Formats: sequence, structure tokens, C-alpha cells
Amino acid sequence: MAQNRYIDTRGNVTEPASFRQAVVDGLAEGGGLYVAETIPTFTVDEIVALADMPYAQRAATIYKRFDTDFADETIDAIMAGAYGDNFDTPDIAPITSLDENTHILELWHGPTSAFKDMALQCLPRCFAAAASELRAEGKIDNEFLILVATSGDTGKAALEGFRDRDGVKIGVMYPEGGVSDIQFKQMATQAGDNVRVWAVRGNFDDCQTGAKIVFGDEEFNERLANERKVALSSANSINWGRLMPQIVYYVSSYAQLVHDGKVAAGAPIDVCVPTGNFGNILAAWYAKQMGTPIDMLFCASNENRVLTDFINTGTYDITDREFVLTPSPSMDILVSSNLERQLFELTGRNPEAIKEWMRQQKEEKRFQVDADTFAKLRADFASDSADSRECFATIKEVYEKHGYLLDPHSAVAFKVAERLRGQNPVLVASTAHWAKFGENVYRALHDLEPGEPLPDEMAKLTGCELNARIAEATGCGPVPAGLAELDSRPIRFTQVIDGDPEAIEEAAMEFLAE
Ligand SMILES: *Cc1c(COP(=O)(O)O)cnc(C)c1O
Repeated sequence: MAQNRYIDTRGNVTEPASFRQAVVDGLAEGGGLYVAETIPTFTVDEIVALADMPYAQRAATIYKRFDTDFADETIDAIMAGAYGDNFDTPDIAPITSLDENTHILELWHGPTSAFKDMALQCLPRCFAAAASELRAEGKIDNEFLILVATSGDTGKAALEGFRDRDGVKIGVMYPEGGVSDIQFKQMATQAGDNVRVWAVRGNFDDCQTGAKIVFGDEEFNERLANERKVALSSANSINWGRLMPQIVYYVSSYAQLVHDGKVAAGAPIDVCVPTGNFGNILAAWYAKQMGTPIDMLFCASNENRVLTDFINTGTYDITDREFVLTPSPSMDILVSSNLERQLFELTGRNPEAIKEWMRQQKEEKRFQVDADTFAKLRADFASDSADSRECFATIKEVYEKHGYLLDPHSAVAFKVAERLRGQNPVLVASTAHWAKFGENVYRALHDLEPGEPLPDEMAKLTGCELNARIAEATGCGPVPAGLAELDSRPIRFTQVIDGDPEAIEEAAMEFLAE
């Protein structure tokens, strides 16, 4: 087979990129997203056979089938590093079955206890290897600064993934006072010689807008190139290199279900995913295209139900939609960037249609897909939302019935799966350990309202102390070490900066000058 190449969703890339180039570029030239020209397939037997290998080898097998421009040994080494003892279980993404037909895919056994680790333990290793090879081949001559604006989870997972990678530095901005005690300590205590964390005066939107302007500031980018031989890059979920590791766990989990005798080989399952940027559920869709016997994909939303409305009507509309802050913040989203790839695929890869819809989304805040695309969407996807009260009630119910604690994101998915499921077994993607969101888990278990203050006795505890209390009271411990030990780690980063681009650029230059 000829080497797989990467085309883009808007048809602007004239010379398709290699895998390594796509990973290093992130976004394609002209604003589109990279997509593999050929999506490989597996037979059910081949999928089932994956269960005989450790997770790292399953991942390597799938990457090799995508025919990347990495040597096989490089892929093996990347996967061995990405999915080894940095996870707290050799299964990497174990499945807990709550009953015969309800299976929870636990994607939070990595170093930061959130599902972002599944991709961000792998992508940075691919990124550093690709950049180093491209430099050696004379195709690039720069190093990289990864700049991330985060509302919490992504920043920590990116820091942990990129720390101590050669040829890369990473700077993360978060809104000052806008993250939980646990999230703050996770970032402020970050280890590594190539990392920096800034609190930004303002909210998450200010951070993100500031970062976007910096990425687009040509003068600054030239200065970085000339003075520091550094190019900016982002670690966000539009990078194809973040999608691939997510495809792996859907293929792998089907193999596991068959291996464990929970599903007959070839029998269909449905998958339910708590969705924000549409990256996780898109990976499940690709896993289906590759031959995994997945029937329906259930897209779960919280009160920010723009995706649910889209899947139910074919119209994406944010003209009159308020951004709601919920207990599942990683699903609080109005514009889902990976939906672009999904639409590209459902239109039979029609870049003209995508270009027009994306223009409408940007300028008119609304677009409607054609009848054929809508029919294809409905064939693969169903969607519903669960609000904050339902989310809390689900956490409590599942705990009382099964002795199992869901985090708020996973609880939204669990509830939606209950509503949408038919005869098939359902695999519910669980995207965070409950202890990342201990305050809301406490509220849920004690019948407090979303946003209601905790009782004084609890409110005065640190996040770690509160988690320890919850673990003790529920028997759902131990809390993962990375979260449990945060109070004893030294705080390394306390710098607060303004959110305007000049301040961010100055902070970045200072960081690079060290
Ligand atoms: C990022 C995230 C999500 C949303 O995933 P998408 O790929 O953006 O759809 C859901 N839950 C948690 C805990 C997350 O961190």
C-alpha cells in the first residue's frame, strides 16, 4: 500500500501531508482539518485478536495499519512509553460492567485522571519524534512552543504529556480563580524543565481569545522564528494525532468485551459519549468505519445542547444560545470543532459543502445540512441531553445501586444512554475520575443543588481533604495518587498575567529566554 496521506476538510491543501507533518502542523493550511486519505479496516477476527496483546501493542497495531511515515520500531517505542506504568493499571482503559448490558469504559487511569490523557500521553511523543525526524531530514529547522488556553483538564493533561519532551516547550494559561482547588494545584505543581503555567486575569474566554490572537500575530511569530528559532503550535483536539489514540480505545474495548465473554464476536454494541468538542465521539465513528461492530453512537450533552439539537434537527444554531456553566465543564461548549471532520465524512468528503457551512457558522452563527447528509447523520447518531439536576441524581442513583461513583461528565452520558438505549449492550465512555470533581460529587450524594454552597465544615477543606472524606464515606477509594498527593507538592507557578496578547507574548518570550 502506498503511504497514507492527509487531506483537509476544506480542500485548501494542494500537496497532501504525511502523518508526521500533519501532527506537527496541527491545523491544515487554509484553516481546514487534516483527515487520513485512507481509513484502514479490520475484520472482526483481527479486532478480537487484539485482546491477546497488551494495550500498547494494540495501539501500535492500529497505528501501523494507518500506514504512517514512522518506522515500525518508532511506533512501538512511542506506544510503550505512552501506555505503560504512567497509567495506574496495566489494562490502561479497563471496562467495569454495571450489569450484563451496561459497560463503563474507564478512560481516566492516566497520570491526570481525565480522558485527555489517553490522547495526550501519546500525541506529544508522536510530536517530538516527528519534529526531531523532520529536523534531521532538513524539512524544518525550528523547535516548538506549545501554547494552551485551558479551563482546567486539557492544560494539565497537555503539561504532563509534553513535559521533558525534547525540542518542545509548553506554556499553559488558565483563568485566575476560574478553576477548582484540585485543578489549580494540578497545574501549579507541575514537574518538568520545559513547562510554564500562567494564571490570567479574566475568564476562560479571555484566555482563549488572547491565545488565538497570539497564534495569528504574524509579527510575533516572525520574531519567535528569528530570535528563538521557535514556532508556535497547539495541542488542541483538532490535531489528527489526538484523534488516533481515541480510535484505538474503541477498537480495543470491543476486543476486550468479546475476550471477557460479555459480547459475542461480531454482535453489535452501542456507544454513548459525553460530548464537548466532538473528538471522542468522532473517534468512535472512525472505529465503526474501521470494522468495529458499533451500531449507534449516542451523543450526550448537558444544558449546552447545541449538538443534541443539531443531531435531532440537522440545523446547527447558536444565534440565540446562552453559554451555561454546568457541573460538567468540559462539555460546556457552543462551537464543536471536530464536528467539521464528521460532516466532511458524512458528505462523502465534500470540501465545498464544508467550506460553506463553516462560513455560515462563523458569519451567521447557523447552518443547516442537506437532507442526504442529515439522513446519514441520523443513521449513525442519536442524541439527548441531561441537565445538572439529572446529572446529580444519576451520580447518586448509580452509587446507591452499584456502589460505583461516576464523575459529572460520565453521569450525563449514563443518563442519556438510559434514555436512548435499545436492545444492544451499551458502552458508556467515562471521561474523568470522580475525584477530579469532588465538590459536585459531594453535592450529588448529599442532595445539594447545583451551585449550592457546601456546608461550612466541608467548604473549609482542601480539594484533597474533601476527596478523602468522600472516598471514606462511599468506599469508592483510593483516590488516584496524582490527585491524593497534591497538598504535599510544592507550588512552582504563581505568576499572574493580563489576558491581552501583549502580556501573553511578553510572558512567552520571558519563558523562552530562560
Ligand atoms: C474533554 C472532555 C470531554 C469532551 O470530550 P470531546 O472530545 O471534547 O467531545 C468530556 N469529559 C471530560 C471529562 C473531558 O475532559
